[in-house]
Amino acid sequence: MSDGRILVVEDEPSYAEALRVGLGREGFRVETAADGVEALARFDEVEPDLVLLDVMLPRLSGIEVCRQIRKRSQVPIIMVTAKGDEIDTVVGLEVGADDYVTKPYRIRELVARMHAVMRRRPDAVPAPAEHDSAAIDVGGVRLDPGEHRVTRDGIEVTLPLKEFDLLHLLLANAGRVLTRETLIDRVWGHDYVGDTKTLDVHIKRLRGKLEADPSNPTLITTIRGLGYKYTR
Ligand code: CA
Repeated sequence: MSDGRILVVEDEPSYAEALRVGLGREGFRVETAADGVEALARFDEVEPDLVLLDVMLPRLSGIEVCRQIRKRSQVPIIMVTAKGDEIDTVVGLEVGADDYVTKPYRIRELVARMHAVMRRRPDAVPAPAEHDSAAIDVGGVRLDPGEHRVTRDGIEVTLPLKEFDLLHLLLANAGRVLTRETLIDRVWGHDYVGDTKTLDVHIKRLRGKLEADPSNPTLITTIRGLGYKYTR
């Protein structure tokens, strides 16, 4: 099991520490940067699943950091502002931030926003289009939508429709975290009734058919606090 990686860019040590502890408790792995220049360097190292970005930073402002990150990534970004920073907030959204929170905030509220941002960002999670019949091949697992066929190391694997759709979505977004909400919404939509275990059951079946050791999965990994990720 791996944790969702959050890059916290915050120059006030007390805030950075509170986030490290608070988000850590919620199951996230927190990496920190204390200024804008460090933020960009850390971003490349950490490859975070989400960036929490203070607006007022030494060396390079949060706005500029956001602009730079957007040139290379569609990672969800939440800006953090102090009271009275409304202008920065608007600019932040214009340069590609997904949401903002105002200090002081509660960790619980922040976590809810984090999940909402990941859900709401459809362009960050392109579902395979119905008509997209291009075969996908990731690390020995090949899925051919046109022929409705899956092979693992050349050997055919039989998958029922929902397992096939779920795998298609995971493979098409390999290397990226898909939240539970996104997976449920894209694969089941309104057909998803009641039991939230349905997704986990399907993931378990896929692992049983694809993983070398299903009890220790390396292809479909659980990202604690967020969802699932197919290893690229
Ligand atoms: Ca600051």
